[in-house]
Amino acid sequence: MAARSNEGPAARLATPKARTALSCPACGSADVAQVLGDNGGVTYVCTSCGHSWS
Ligand SMILES: [Zn+2]
Repeated sequence: MAARSNEGPAARLATPKARTALSCPACGSADVAQVLGDNGGVTYVCTSCGHSWS
């Protein structure tokens, strides 16, 4: 009998981290930081030109 006991639990991480694939609408740079606002909203700030949007 071939006992298949090598199949362990799939413990590998499928999603490393939700990375934001955003680009600044002002300068087109991909150096965009995600900032959480006080109202629960999310604001994006370009670290290249300083442009912020949401
Ligand atoms: Zn920018």
